Amino acid sequence: MNRLPYLSPAIQRVGSEPCNPFRLGSAPCCSEIDGVAVSRLVREHGSPLFVFSEATLRAKYREAHRAFSRRYPDVQFAWSYKTNYLNAICRVFHEEGAIAEVVSEFEYDKARQNGIPGRDIIFNGPLKSREILERAANEGAMIQVDNLDELLLLGEIASQPDRAKPIAIALRVYLDTGTHAVWSKFGFNADNGEALRVVRRLLQMPGLKLQGFHAHIGTFILDPDAYRKSATVLVRLALEAERLGAEPIRYLNVGGGFASRARLHYQYLSPEQATPSFDRYAEAICDTITQAWPAGRSLPRLYLETGRALVDEAGYLISTVVAVKRRPMAPAPSLNGVLAAYGKAALAPAPSHEADRPALVIDAGINLLYTTAWYLPSILPAKACVDVSAPTTIYGCLCMNIDVIREEAPLPGLTTGDQVVLHPVGAYNITQSMQFITYRPAVVMIGLNGAVHLIRHRENLEYVQELEKVPDHLNPHGLKLMASVDDTHMSSPVLSRRSHL
Ligand SMILES: *Cc1c(COP(=O)(O)O)cnc(C)c1O
Repeated sequence: MNRLPYLSPAIQRVGSEPCNPFRLGSAPCCSEIDGVAVSRLVREHGSPLFVFSEATLRAKYREAHRAFSRRYPDVQFAWSYKTNYLNAICRVFHEEGAIAEVVSEFEYDKARQNGIPGRDIIFNGPLKSREILERAANEGAMIQVDNLDELLLLGEIASQPDRAKPIAIALRVYLDTGTHAVWSKFGFNADNGEALRVVRRLLQMPGLKLQGFHAHIGTFILDPDAYRKSATVLVRLALEAERLGAEPIRYLNVGGGFASRARLHYQYLSPEQATPSFDRYAEAICDTITQAWPAGRSLPRLYLETGRALVDEAGYLISTVVAVKRRPMAPAPSLNGVLAAYGKAALAPAPSHEADRPALVIDAGINLLYTTAWYLPSILPAKACVDVSAPTTIYGCLCMNIDVIREEAPLPGLTTGDQVVLHPVGAYNITQSMQFITYRPAVVMIGLNGAVHLIRHRENLEYVQELEKVPDHLNPHGLKLMASVDDTHMSSPVLSRRSHL
């Protein structure tokens, strides 16, 4: 009988946050990030301000890499560009050894500019034009085919007479893990035989070489067992593809999706309790592959495209209170109404100290915090307060009623000019933020030695208008769109029109 290699089990600490039911002592606060005072960061770089911790980025990467590499002989992480493609962030992960995972031509260009050779780029997503596919093929990128149209296009490119080498591809598949919604938008169905039909077809296509299978089952997957399912399916597909005549499958790609220590709306458990450790994900994935892979054959390479779990906790947003308000709360359903319906006497009205609630307006809006639609970052004051925390509404600064950053955060009494720190916000907020009525803020990274590096300037008028054009008939005086201070004496289009009246 084959003896399985010994794998040390992952031990999870079932800890919890220190409990303080009476909220005694000072309210929790975040006055510094990696030893740098929040007040100093704001003084030097303005507010709002995104702050990234290089130490946390590297620590997370190493923790994740170690969890997998101690259980599996051939592991390679690929940094998911769309999770955060600030070049400084990408370069930290590349320095740590991650290759690049991209989902568009734009991201492909970015990875190349960051010095990543084509052969170290995993190319995902449904949007791949002929031009970028040709380039990716020429540069030896790992193309993960999403759909039949893409496969046929690749077949066409591969059969061009000037092509010397076959194009190496992998198939993206989706499956029902039984625990999460099925992401059927991407790839081929692995459960109903579609993926294998596609394998049969591509084995007939000259110039294409199947090298692997890819599944990205979703994001913020809190149940590591979902990966047992996807790893099982990937191994099964690899072995069946080989039986159908494919060359030995070189790699399995389990995508991303590990949860960060963020908290979902309506998530009861704290992130410390709910978010699995990298060890638990690694155990689920590596155990499954090592046990399902034929004994005696060397294991395929394992690719991971972990995004949010590597970057989320490294990111903070500092924001400043610009106004203090009170927010009237809808009265709770009245018991007296019920009593009246039954002809009973009314009760004395309850004291209504919950009738309204403190509210703060901060200088950041949901345009910077797209992910707050799903997650609840902690919101802490930047100064130590001895005040008792009270449920406080946090309004963003946009002129839209939906711009509420948090309905209710426990905060001590804060005043105009005080800072709050939101955390974790490192995943997806930068890449999904949009410019709307304000300039998007600067981004800094605190280096390992505590030096603060500007990694993205705050936007300005010139940057925001750079791509705009004003047709000549709307600009009869040839005013430059960018009015410098010296231009301000010139008449505005509105004023000059008035003068004609
Ligand atoms: C977005 C994405 C990832 C990263 O997902 P996370 O949930 O952030 O880990 C990885 N692979 C693919 C194909 C993706 O689209």
